[in-house]
Amino acid sequence: MKRRTFGLTALALSTALVAMPTFAAEKGTIGIAMPTKSSARWISDGDSMVEQFEAAGYDVDLQYAEDDIPNQLAQIENMITKGVDVLVIAAIDGTTLSNALENANAAGIKTIAYDRLIRDSEYVDYYATFDNFKVGVQQATSVVDGLKERFPDQDTWNVELFGGSPDDNNAYFFYNGAMSVLQPLIDAGTINIVSGQMGMDTVGTLRWDGAVAQSRMDNLLSAHYTDATINGVLSPYDGLSIGILSSLKGVGYGSGDLLMPIVSGQDAELQSIKSIIAGEQYSTVFKDTRELARVTVGMVEALLQGGEPEINDTTTYDNGKKIVPSYLLEPVSVDGSNYEAIVIDSGYHKKDDL
Ligand code: BGC
Repeated sequence: MKRRTFGLTALALSTALVAMPTFAAEKGTIGIAMPTKSSARWISDGDSMVEQFEAAGYDVDLQYAEDDIPNQLAQIENMITKGVDVLVIAAIDGTTLSNALENANAAGIKTIAYDRLIRDSEYVDYYATFDNFKVGVQQATSVVDGLKERFPDQDTWNVELFGGSPDDNNAYFFYNGAMSVLQPLIDAGTINIVSGQMGMDTVGTLRWDGAVAQSRMDNLLSAHYTDATINGVLSPYDGLSIGILSSLKGVGYGSGDLLMPIVSGQDAELQSIKSIIAGEQYSTVFKDTRELARVTVGMVEALLQGGEPEINDTTTYDNGKKIVPSYLLEPVSVDGSNYEAIVIDSGYHKKDDL
């Protein structure tokens, strides 16, 4: 009887021991600070990371800050106090985290900048992102291609420029990438910025806010396009593009003789893919957030378990204190001709949702 009880206990114990390595917290806890749920891409980022970190044996503390800087700071400080092993941060304002990262470092916590560079801190261990300059090149290239396609009889085109949030390092890379394509055409007189508004300090859109972009477009149209027709808009993000398109539709573009201007975007958000199918938004840029999560999990593994992280850039991302070793994924330009192959066939969106 006694022996039998012992046998059962031993069995239970060995089962527990065998099962233990699959308990998530075994490998550590990852604090993930995301900027906002108001844009679908960050929800996909968060979901993919939770799935992949848990599958790799980590616990996850995922927080969204609704684009509120003090809120994100409090979430990060809270993660530090709770003793996470690594912080993965997509910053709202990439310049406001120096103190928090100093605290993280003092607590022995490593930090990965996710998608957006964290500036002014030596305590950023790695940066996982896309080739942000190339995103801008792709946006501008699609605008130029679209202008030639939709307005083939013109030899000059009227265009306006929109930039992303000036507190997001990416916004400058997108803008500079786009201008590497547009500036020579502007200099040659092929592209005419009718308002004359150029430069990130003039065309930036704080917090990537679609309503702000919409009202700036309203103002541009009423101030500069009562006698002229606009042919294209460089927009760095789908959420801005939708606002810009509303403004354009509001004054009659896309109906009658007024052809819809060529409007770019970024993130392949569902609403924008629908808009592309409807012939309104012209293009977007697809950045596979599942891949970004995969690269990030690999970096965490390297930091906590040893081994070589996947790095392919050690020169581009100077954050003011150091050049942060980075992995840059490839963005893909998407328009009406390839959205099915790129965003449906890859499983990023379901055909039924479109
Ligand atoms: C991201 C873009 C996104 C934008 C607005 C940027 O930092 O790289 O993918 O469109 O933020 O959320």
